[in-house]
Amino acid sequence: MDPNDLLRVALYDTRSEAQFVLAALLENGIDAKLSVDEHSALGMDLDVHADEVELIVKRAEFDKAKEIIEDLETGEVEKVPAWTCQCGEDVDEGFDTCWSCGAGYKAG
Ligand SMILES: [Zn+2]
Repeated sequence: MDPNDLLRVALYDTRSEAQFVLAALLENGIDAKLSVDEHSALGMDLDVHADEVELIVKRAEFDKAKEIIEDLETGEVEKVPAWTCQCGEDVDEGFDTCWSCGAGYKAG
């Protein structure tokens, strides 16, 4: 088995939910991505159902990703509050990365 194989670790109904989990995985050093990003990066039309967002990780990181997702679901990780980025955009609660410029969350 190739440790770089991409596996679906979770499936979400909304992109915001998926992005919240994605951010948590990235924070933990896991190279996760969303299926929708993958498709748009390739310039493909979305063939995933628009209401479903797949969270994808490498096989080698699958177990760790699962654990983090379980922790999130049991509410052990605190959500980032709504904040205003240095670029001036308002970022919703639960996102620690600005959707506009990609800057990380800074308290205050
Ligand atoms: Zn920004």
